[in-house]
Amino acid sequence: MRAFRCDHCGQLVFFENSLCLRCESALGFVPSTQEIHALVGEREGLRRCANLQLAECNWVVEDEGEELCRSCRITAVRPADDDPEGLENYASAEAAKRRIIYQLMDLNLPFDGDDQTLVFELKSSTKAPVTTGHADGVITLDLAESDDAQRVARREQLGEAYRTMLGHYRHELGHYYQSILLPTEDEWDRERALFGDERESYQEAMDRHYASGPPADWEDHFVSAYATMHPWEDWAETFAHYLHIRDTLQTAADFGMSVDGPQAAADDRDFKAAPQPEAGERGFREVLDNWLPLTYALNQVNRSMGLDDLYPFALADEVIAKLAYMHSRIHALETGAEAPGPAPVPAGVVEEAPAEDVSPAG
Ligand SMILES: [Zn+2]
Ligand SMILES: [Zn+2]
Ligand SMILES: [Zn+2]
Repeated sequence: MRAFRCDHCGQLVFFENSLCLRCESALGFVPSTQEIHALVGEREGLRRCANLQLAECNWVVEDEGEELCRSCRITAVRPADDDPEGLENYASAEAAKRRIIYQLMDLNLPFDGDDQTLVFELKSSTKAPVTTGHADGVITLDLAESDDAQRVARREQLGEAYRTMLGHYRHELGHYYQSILLPTEDEWDRERALFGDERESYQEAMDRHYASGPPADWEDHFVSAYATMHPWEDWAETFAHYLHIRDTLQTAADFGMSVDGPQAAADDRDFKAAPQPEAGERGFREVLDNWLPLTYALNQVNRSMGLDDLYPFALADEVIAKLAYMHSRIHALETGAEAPGPAPVPAGVVEEAPAEDVSPAG
């Protein structure tokens, strides 16, 4: 995420701000320019999203006849007006969603054009069971996970190193974008060589995963234990991880952070997995060369504050190869090197086993 400036008084402001704390101007994020503007002077006429209160949304509505912004508009289901707890979780879930929608814009990943079908259903499992997952452009998330205690309990139950609402969005979007990023059968074949054959039974894979857990050596091959379940989940976990890296690197770069030391970190840059050729000049190696030293430093910063590591992951060579492939696919779409065409559409994925006692969402 970039840092922003109030264009009325020059104060540093953040993506979430709806008010400048220095000059007290109302602030709005304008999707078409991806900038935050003070809504004064010639911009006084800009309309704020109708979800300003309900979802704490600071975005501006630019389309005629719409009440909601481009992010709020693609939420098809939200808690009822008489569900205060659900609405509180909904507000924080929408905040995480705006961040990911911003990143989709930033990476030129299409999400709301004429031929897009992406919608979100934000439901709360405190009312009725909710199945997190993706099917045919519909992403369903459990708002109960906006509650920190609930989410941490699930993370510990499932033995995960990392679990956030933002991560859930990124993972489910990985399922959504898979067929867009793999526009031809040839590309699917290249993907299968890295991630495995997604035509194997999802149900059997899920049963096996929840019965016996991940293979002992999973860290040599997968970015997370959940990625071991099925090639679809490996793709989605890798996509999510790639987006984590790009967002965090952008944030660091915009604040002028770069890590030059200690020497041990700088010396550790001999990575074996080169980016795929089609990734072009912005190769994944360059991404990694910036990324890994930063994660070493940020983990140590967190430990200095007595907190868990910011980045509780280790990237094996095979994982780096998958991330480099993801980089090349997103890069191809981002630069318009390839128009997305018709492609096999994966069937829906359900992140939850039917049993009452497990409710994972990767
Ligand atoms: Zn200001
Ligand atoms: Zn909005
Ligand atoms: Zn999934």
